[in-house]
Amino acid sequence: MSAKLLEGKIIAGRIKEGLKKDVETMKQKTGSGPRLVSIQVGENAASAVYIKSQAKTAENLGIEYELKTLAPSTTQDGLTREIETMNGNKKVTGIIIQLPLPKNIDHKAVMSSVLPEKDIEGMHPANLGRMLLGNAGLIPCTARAAMELIESTGVKLYGKEAVIIGHSEIVGKPLSLLLLNKFATTTVCHIATGERGILPEHVKRAEILVVAVGKAGLVKGEWIKPGAVVIDVGINRVDGKLVGDVEFEKAKEKASFITPVPGGVGPLTVTMLMRNTVKAFKTEHGL
Ligand code: NAD
Repeated sequence: MSAKLLEGKIIAGRIKEGLKKDVETMKQKTGSGPRLVSIQVGENAASAVYIKSQAKTAENLGIEYELKTLAPSTTQDGLTREIETMNGNKKVTGIIIQLPLPKNIDHKAVMSSVLPEKDIEGMHPANLGRMLLGNAGLIPCTARAAMELIESTGVKLYGKEAVIIGHSEIVGKPLSLLLLNKFATTTVCHIATGERGILPEHVKRAEILVVAVGKAGLVKGEWIKPGAVVIDVGINRVDGKLVGDVEFEKAKEKASFITPVPGGVGPLTVTMLMRNTVKAFKTEHGL
């Protein structure tokens, strides 16, 4: 058996068509449109790629995108003041804080100073709390992208064994709540699971497997349960090529659905950011 490919680009394309129409309608109804402000502290080659992709996607959808680059010497107070100015600006729909931040700035504290209604990255404690309560607020984009891919398979999640490897705040933890809210029996593995040597046991019973670690080849193809849905969030550069965390060629022979890397989760993540922006604008204008 060879798995069906879950191509993020195709699903993202469909969602973006809908968002573009939404933006047009919103502009007609309100006479204004959504505007994103992306704040970076200093410049960084890795985030430049994401910024370019965000700006291009926003532009294609009719969403205004402004990049603010603050001096590398910016303090946490300085960044917080900048965010507060954006919070108070009625023309700003959503705020993105680009990573990495300098070591003297605490990312979590900074995210807490973004107004929850403008937190289109879904990282404010109020939005994370809403997810815990099962009320859809603004949801972290990568976790939502993984969920979108899982749901695109049509597989019913109720009672399914879901295993996530990686417990970061942007992927593993929020995704575990999204899966739990759909009644999947959800296990979250992390570094300590790996160190105990029991990752294979967990993977072998996973009907839904999501891997978000950042280690090429961590999950062996032979561990995959026949018929599993495999979502590989990992991005690793090996010999100049991008690969995920799962041994793709071998896993493909056992899974029913699998994401390619690149071209799986990545293209959907930026689309989810735009969807949150549209949602924030609608909420603000009572649409
Ligand atoms: P992170 O570094 O914050 O977290 C890594 C997680 O992996 C932690 O939970 C850690 O405990 C776990 N881990 C580390 N070694 C392990 C091991 N040997 N066995 C089991 N678990 C182990 O990472 P992150 O920010 O969540 O990113 C994870 C990966 O996803 C990275 O490759 C990143 O580039 C990628 N990513 C992709 C997208 C996208 O849009 N496609 C978005 C965000 C992150």
